[in-house]
Amino acid sequence: MEPWDIEKLDGEFVWHPFTQMLDWEKEKNIVIERGEGIYLYDIYGNRYIDGVSSLWVNVHGHNNKEINEAIKAQIDRISHSTLLGLGNVPSALLAKKLIDIAPKTLKKVFYSDSGSTSVEIAIKVAFQYFKQKGAKYKEKKKIIAATSAYHGDTLGCVSVGGIELFHSIYKPLLFEALRIPYPYCYRCLFGMKYPGCMLYCASEAEKIIKVNGPESCALIIEPMIQGASGMITMPPGYMKRIERTCKDNEVLLILDEVATGFGRTGEMFAAFHEDVNPDIMCVAKGISGGYLPIAATLFSREIYEGFLGNYEDNRTFFHGHTYTGNQLAATAAVTSLELFNKNDLIYKIKELVPYFKETLQEFNDIDIVGDVRTIGLMAGIELTKDRVTKEPFEQKERTGKKVTLKARESGAIIRPLGDVIVVMPPLSIDRKNLGELLSIIYDSVKEVAGGLR
Ligand SMILES: *Cc1c(COP(=O)(O)O)cnc(C)c1O
Repeated sequence: MEPWDIEKLDGEFVWHPFTQMLDWEKEKNIVIERGEGIYLYDIYGNRYIDGVSSLWVNVHGHNNKEINEAIKAQIDRISHSTLLGLGNVPSALLAKKLIDIAPKTLKKVFYSDSGSTSVEIAIKVAFQYFKQKGAKYKEKKKIIAATSAYHGDTLGCVSVGGIELFHSIYKPLLFEALRIPYPYCYRCLFGMKYPGCMLYCASEAEKIIKVNGPESCALIIEPMIQGASGMITMPPGYMKRIERTCKDNEVLLILDEVATGFGRTGEMFAAFHEDVNPDIMCVAKGISGGYLPIAATLFSREIYEGFLGNYEDNRTFFHGHTYTGNQLAATAAVTSLELFNKNDLIYKIKELVPYFKETLQEFNDIDIVGDVRTIGLMAGIELTKDRVTKEPFEQKERTGKKVTLKARESGAIIRPLGDVIVVMPPLSIDRKNLGELLSIIYDSVKEVAGGLR
């Protein structure tokens, strides 16, 4: 089949996620055929740097020899058997590896297939845990979440989500979540300035947790940085205060590390930046190195034990997705974690972070850049129409998208969140290639800024 035939098939039959298909039908689209290291190749052989790690998942590069070989060897043994009533080798190995690297409170691994399912599981378990804990806790039914949160696209996740554009239409289908303010210093919800504010947002959050504690089973939050809402980074100290207040009020702390886990923020997990010990942690995206869909929800021993009992006590967690614990995906994940050790990857990321941060600061020279936010190898560049008033561009101008189209012409694939340009290279990227990616993005922003004048 010729490349243009493939293009036609895509155009005729595929409905793309998070995509206005009317735009898609009009545009010249890229169809990827293969990958190698940090590069993607389309069906015409054009090469692009994968500037968003294929939606935040890629760790060791594409077509990694070790992961390829491990998966091939596993295929020759078995590809899938169910985890309902049976164990399997790679999922057992992976569970041990996950517990070894996770915050020390976490002792048990429940598998699923995507970030969204890992969050659904966290919410259902938190709810059921208090249902079973005794009469004293029977009022604990509510979930606390943060403003502008993103936890996935299934209805439970959307209920705790807080992005108007994605979520508001589904309101009649959702359960209601309580909200604490997520710190967004560039557009502070309280009109204050860090550090003079003394983390006023944390004080407000603490009040909400205290007042609603007796009725709340859990609080879910993206630690250190919110991803999908626009790469919104937390000021130091906020996360620790939330952790402490949850503990004091017997509200389970669920960390959604789906985006931040596995080295992305410069630590294996974002929790480690402030030594936070959650009761529940959701991981997905980077877990398999960006190879295959697999996710996990990690639990403390105490929560796990709350589900033990005689079968007729009905304490069983009746939940499980058909492909839960899939051997191929678990093998990819085990091998990815081995590569973290073998390649000293966390250390290498830490070495690269100051360079990433400093180079990103140069974007502030461009007059449509309002704010640059970064942690680890994760960054957002927020574009604004007016730097002084922080007035955003109009939605229909698609300023962020224009930048990504320019970048594409220069050989880098990036994907914006509205008018926030996301930079998320594969974690194995070296300094030279990272420099090249940043310079392509810089020139693209500059060109779009020039075109607006
Ligand atoms: C991507 C993401 C999810 C959802 O994961 P899927 O695999 O897309 O279902 C949940 N939480 C956060 C923080 C994410 O970034």
